[in-house]
Amino acid sequence: MFKNVFHKEKNNPRRQSEVPPFSVTEKIKLEPCTGIDDFTVDRILGTGSFGRVVFAKHKATKTNCAIKILSKALVIKTKQVLHIKAEKDILKAVNFPFVVNLLGTFQDKDCVYLVMEYIVGGEFFTHLRMSGRLKESAAKIYAAEVLLVFEYLHSRDIIYRDLKPENLLLDRDGHIKVTDFGFAKQIEHRTYTLCGTPDYLAPEVILNKGHGKPVDWWALGVLIYEMLAGYPPFYDDDPMGTYQKILHSKPEFPSHFTRSSRDLIKKLLQPDLTKRFGNLKGAARDIKMHPWFNGIDWTQLVNKTITAPIKPQVAGPDDTSQFDNYDDIPPMEHTDNLSEEEQSLFKGF
Ligand code: AMP
Repeated sequence: MFKNVFHKEKNNPRRQSEVPPFSVTEKIKLEPCTGIDDFTVDRILGTGSFGRVVFAKHKATKTNCAIKILSKALVIKTKQVLHIKAEKDILKAVNFPFVVNLLGTFQDKDCVYLVMEYIVGGEFFTHLRMSGRLKESAAKIYAAEVLLVFEYLHSRDIIYRDLKPENLLLDRDGHIKVTDFGFAKQIEHRTYTLCGTPDYLAPEVILNKGHGKPVDWWALGVLIYEMLAGYPPFYDDDPMGTYQKILHSKPEFPSHFTRSSRDLIKKLLQPDLTKRFGNLKGAARDIKMHPWFNGIDWTQLVNKTITAPIKPQVAGPDDTSQFDNYDDIPPMEHTDNLSEEEQSLFKGF
């Protein structure tokens, strides 16, 4: 069922990416995959703003899956229809070692469903909080994996826009899998929707000036800081306080931060877009070549032949012990009947 295929960039200069050659796992086709009855649904793995993610087994193939279930009524109410469609289209189009694979989608009258491969190691967020803060050598590997994801997505004109430790999962061997493409967007130049998580927002998003790929590089700076410090650089009890600190853009560095980590973080947390690393002529290469990443073999990294810093303790591929308990979450409400017009918004999902 799994076949390694060699990925080649299309010969399109504008989209050329410098991601080293990598092998990807061909996406599994789940058949049948037309309704929730094709699966045995188990426990809740996590909740998002518009629904939940459950662990499930595909009955016909015994494949372990994580199914994101979103209430149509809620999606309409919160004006997320376009975001959900973009999430599906983008996940369908991408195939990268550090991005979660989409295995199928379907809908019924109440909900839309995104069936993903199940990532057994749990949220990076949990591992980070358990460790307090990470050693520089560990933070470097996670940052490098995320950097390659952004380089890959940006080469396809996709911005991710929601980097945070909660959206990074660890696979069985401890490598990153980026999940939740609910705010990802294919763009030509700039976009204006305010989205993301307060601690990780770039100043241009807060100022509503229009934003693009550089927001992801800003967020990478926040992530590197958070991994090394154990808390994000612009933390405040009040989101307005966080926004002010972001606009001021002068993070304070704990004394254990090395000179090269401070230098790279400052170059990413650069409010002036014409100076922000990742947005200069050298694009992602400038970041990869920064001394903080010295010693990273990018080809080995993308092919996962580097040992990851944390190996999740799991008993097998269907172990769900790395995820929090959600026993107290009530079953999903089956909502008011949607009109034909409302149902038509989900056509083709
Ligand atoms: P999301 O709504 O996409 O942010 O997902 C909510 C939570 O569900 C995540 O933070 C994870 O804990 C969990 N989750 C999402 N996708 C997967 C997956 N493919 N495998 C395992 N857990 C997942």
